[in-house]
Amino acid sequence: MEGFPRHTGDALRLLRDLPGEIRPGEPLSRHTTFRIGGPAWCLFVPADRAAFVEAVSRARAEGIPWLALGGGSNVLFPDEGFPGLVIATRGLRALEADGTHLFAEAGVPLPALASRGFPALAGIPGTVGGALVMNAGTSAGSISRYVRAVEVLGHDGIPRRLPATECGFSYRSSRLKRLHLPVLGAEFVAPGDETISAEEILRKRRSTQPLGLPSAGCVFRNPPDAPPAGWLIDRAGFKGARHGDALVSPVHANFICNLGRARATDVLALIERIRDGVRRLFGVILEPEIEIVWT
Ligand SMILES: Cc1cc2nc3c(=O)[nH]c(=O)nc-3n(C[C@H](O)[C@H](O)[C@H](O)COP(=O)(O)OP(=O)(O)OC[C@H]3O[C@@H](n4cnc5c(N)ncnc54)[C@H](O)[C@@H]3O)c2cc1C
Repeated sequence: MEGFPRHTGDALRLLRDLPGEIRPGEPLSRHTTFRIGGPAWCLFVPADRAAFVEAVSRARAEGIPWLALGGGSNVLFPDEGFPGLVIATRGLRALEADGTHLFAEAGVPLPALASRGFPALAGIPGTVGGALVMNAGTSAGSISRYVRAVEVLGHDGIPRRLPATECGFSYRSSRLKRLHLPVLGAEFVAPGDETISAEEILRKRRSTQPLGLPSAGCVFRNPPDAPPAGWLIDRAGFKGARHGDALVSPVHANFICNLGRARATDVLALIERIRDGVRRLFGVILEPEIEIVWT
């Protein structure tokens, strides 16, 4: 494939002794909730944690660009694809509970965690790993409030346990993200005295979010010292705006949906129009919350 770091046959040689699925040239649109994204040089689905660790270590050693992919519910890949190794974590699914303490591997679906005493996370798609990196949450709280420690693969190739205080959690971000650290799993503590009801949060989501069309959730972060991004976008008149098959949701203005054949360039064009419109009208610079992968 033109522009890719090496021949796709090299991917097979790099990974063939590891347990898991190796898919050179896999379209990333099949692995994102946006249903957008060109081919990866190679997508690897490690069967277990050891294979995940080994794949990351080999990519690092060979200088091959790599990224971990959870549920693909917060990423926008380019139409040209990703010129490196995408390592999907769905094989890392161990979930162990000991009273109010829980250990979950990175690929555990977030709803499976949410239903075990973490109601603030109800209804958020994706995986534990993606949620930790993004510090995902709702108005009722973020995942960081439940985390005791996160297990990462250090830059030296050694797995280590980072106490929550060292993870640098902030609004929809973390040090894990800034340092591009692969998350292997995490320990959580269920508060036990939560007054929030998961049902209530789910009901609210169903009435305020366009859940029928492919999207990546909220596109923009809520700006500090300003009204929420959705309100600003709505007031700037963008609800229902289209670029190709990318649509600003008429239900929730901070969602861009894929009507079927949207390309990454369509979404990016809408993002630019929205940023420009909101800046002109309100003087507020909106920053993306979704992970835009540039190559
Ligand atoms: C309909 C809808 C509703 C949503 N609602 C919310 C909401 O209410 N609140 C909210 O916070 N988010 C929401 N989101 C966004 C998204 O679901 C969250 O950000 C989620 O936590 C992302 O998890 P993921 O596994 O899908 O991550 P991905 O999209 O797969 O990845 C996101 C980032 O994390 C990195 N990553 C993933 N796994 C690992 C790992 N194991 N190690 C290192 N890096 C990793 C990726 O490289 C990427 O940079 C919504 C999305 C959709 C589609």
